[in-house]
Amino acid sequence: MPSESFVASRLTSGNRLFPTVVEVTDSAVIRRRRTLFSRSEESIHLQRIASVRIETGLIWSDLIIESTGGSDPITSHGHHKADAVRIRDLVTAAQTAHLPAATEAGPSRACPFCAETIKLTARVCRFCNREV
Ligand SMILES: [Zn+2]
Repeated sequence: MPSESFVASRLTSGNRLFPTVVEVTDSAVIRRRRTLFSRSEESIHLQRIASVRIETGLIWSDLIIESTGGSDPITSHGHHKADAVRIRDLVTAAQTAHLPAATEAGPSRACPFCAETIKLTARVCRFCNREV
């Protein structure tokens, strides 16, 4: 997957001179910001992204990319809504592509007490909590 970059709108606050750039590569989401005096770069590996939230205002969308590692989320505001959705879709698609196929639930049986389906190897029913 080639990386794609999304530039926040210069019409939004904080983005006038040097708009924030959010780049989605095949391994990470990177947020690049710069000011007159500094450059900063934050990234979260795709496999560590817990969620991509989009908060859409009247015109622009904010992105909140949360990681599973407990580090600070990447936030970027002032994106076109279509860009924000695209970023989320790219992340979701990349994560799905990397994840192993959903595994089968394994052998199961019916609980003799409540008849719910439980794992064959279960010793305690997860529905009625009785030993089986
Ligand atoms: Zn049961």
